[in-house]
Amino acid sequence: MIPISKPFIGEAEKQAVLEVLDSGMLVQGPRTAALEEKWAAACGTPFAVATSSGTTALQIALLAHGVGPGDEVITTPFTFIASVNSILYTGARPVFVDIDPDSFNIDPELIESAITPRTRAIMPVHLYGNPCDMDPILDIALRHGLAVVEDAAQAIGATYQGRCVGSFGTGCFSLYATKNIMAGEGGMITTPDEQLVQKCRMLRNHGMQRRYYHDILGYNFRMTDLHAAIGLAQIARLADFTEKRRANAAYLTSHISAVVTPKLKEGYGHVFHQYTVRVDCGRDRDAAARQLNESGVGSGIFYPVPANRQAYLVEMGLGEVILPVAERMAHEVLSLPVHPQLSQADLEKIVAEVNKL
Ligand SMILES: *Cc1c(COP(=O)(O)O)cnc(C)c1O
Repeated sequence: MIPISKPFIGEAEKQAVLEVLDSGMLVQGPRTAALEEKWAAACGTPFAVATSSGTTALQIALLAHGVGPGDEVITTPFTFIASVNSILYTGARPVFVDIDPDSFNIDPELIESAITPRTRAIMPVHLYGNPCDMDPILDIALRHGLAVVEDAAQAIGATYQGRCVGSFGTGCFSLYATKNIMAGEGGMITTPDEQLVQKCRMLRNHGMQRRYYHDILGYNFRMTDLHAAIGLAQIARLADFTEKRRANAAYLTSHISAVVTPKLKEGYGHVFHQYTVRVDCGRDRDAAARQLNESGVGSGIFYPVPANRQAYLVEMGLGEVILPVAERMAHEVLSLPVHPQLSQADLEKIVAEVNKL
């Protein structure tokens, strides 16, 4: 079976963890600080703050921007549920805006009509590693005085008009095991704003600046140095991994004919966290996934249900909204293996089996 994802764990990762164990400095120590520095450099932002996960990065970023009960945050329904949950954890309400069928990302043209006096922030999600159309989003945010919290969990290294995602607003990343680079678990916040950095650092560590003086209600959202050590070994591989993902995606696109392949747009540096095709025109996507599976090609459906249709969100009254594009994409999308560990034989097999669909 060719798996849909496969974490790369080399000698450097193993050695790095053993060194931390020997050092005795296990949590938020020198490795965490070193990873923050490397991450900020990779994203072209002055600062980065490490957290325990991508979800807690999003939660802290929203809280640091003052998002809370009574506020609304505009986002996409077509995302991993963590984007939406991070908004709910602050006490704010997610407001869903439909997506663009070519990019699968939030449609900037629909954002403005969703703004109300309660709107505090926009959370674009760079889904599958494909950057959102940031210029109109930043323009709307500026005109309405809204914060922009980018969910870049799937998009480390992706660029829009030459600039890295995570450097447009407040960037939030994940180092979960299946992401483009990983630490098992972990998260990162990027920002140019030094005051925001101080708030994020306090929020992740029980509201503490001076030891055992707690100025605000904070959390334990710290990164361990064991995770940071793995992250450091991985970030050294980022350029290589990204190049391989892009080359694999290019091969798939030039050889697959039976389904709709991802569209690459000028100015968008996609990093192919997922290579997502559309099984369209009324064909049965789930049957296609089963057929691939039986022939030894793994696939994934990201995501089968838009957030506004999840049971608990319907119960909260968030299911009223009609989002036809997200609804249709949830029935058509199918992600194929594109990870850096695929061989040429794997790629050929994926193409051959997909073209039989
Ligand atoms: C993975 C992911 C997250 C959450 O990251 P965790 O590290 O798993 O908490 C948030 N948003 C998106 C789009 C993701 O893919």
